[in-house]
Amino acid sequence: MIRACVIGWPIRQSRSPLIHGYWIKRHGLSGSYDKLEVAPDGLQAFVSRIGPDFAGCNVTVPHKEEVMEWLDGVDDTARAIGAVNTIWHEDGRRFGTNTDITGFLANLDQLAPGWDAAPLNAIVLGAGGAARAVVYGLTQRRAAKIAIVNRSLDRAEELARTFGANASAHTYAELPELFGDATLVVNATSLGMIGKPGLDITLDGLNPAAVVNDLVYVPLKTKLLEDAERRGNRTVDGLGMLLHQAVPAFARWFGVTPEVTPELRALIEADIKSGA
Ligand code: NAP
Repeated sequence: MIRACVIGWPIRQSRSPLIHGYWIKRHGLSGSYDKLEVAPDGLQAFVSRIGPDFAGCNVTVPHKEEVMEWLDGVDDTARAIGAVNTIWHEDGRRFGTNTDITGFLANLDQLAPGWDAAPLNAIVLGAGGAARAVVYGLTQRRAAKIAIVNRSLDRAEELARTFGANASAHTYAELPELFGDATLVVNATSLGMIGKPGLDITLDGLNPAAVVNDLVYVPLKTKLLEDAERRGNRTVDGLGMLLHQAVPAFARWFGVTPEVTPELRALIEADIKSGA
């Protein structure tokens, strides 16, 4: 019996048990995947249970950065992003990686084939943890330009410095100038998410060939995606990123590489729409 889980604080909102539970059943495995609320002062003690009690775990807010302190090692991806979302154990030692990049890239590959054709000129809105994963993923696809647009310009500048010559920092006022030759726009802010303010931008002047991707997936169709769709731009919502980031973690713990099927997507969509 292989056990895995997701930890966070709070954790009630996590849909990871539905995703992993679907795959456990689909592959007829003897395993379980639970959600566990772990407070910050219980994080170190929890990590010590990986190995004896759990094959591994996913890590969500607010532990993604702090948990790195309690691990025996992290891979290059987690180090570049400065955050871990997946832990596993090997020979009594615990390691961490970050699968958000895989999720981000695989979602676009699946739903917007050709999105990364050269020249890839990307605009990333936001400079937090998710934006960091997105920018790192874009460098892996050899983006020609990555314009990071953020309310706090200093955070965008710091991110641009970390990821090299093709990345630059901008304010929202510069968007109209950036739109003309953009081939990808990604919303990596929390704006547009249910319970948060909306993303107050206009897409006027956006290259008609640009793909618009929102990482927000509650609601599934944000105003940004509605606006983009109305203009005829290709759109990709954030649910696929959530589903695809779970694939490498499941494969590591359960030894089977699962698929993101239309049935799985429909299951999670229904859950989101039910407001659970
Ligand atoms: P975060 O680290 O807290 O960053 C939030 C970002 O949003 C920052 O850039 C922040 O700008 C910006 N922001 C927040 N409120 C704003 C406002 N009122 N006006 C302008 N900008 C504002 O959050 P995160 O972890 O990066 O997550 C960002 C979003 O990505 C969330 O909606 C999350 O659910 C989503 N996400 C989705 C997936 C997926 O699998 N689909 C994975 C990860 C994250 P400042 O720097 O100026 O504060």
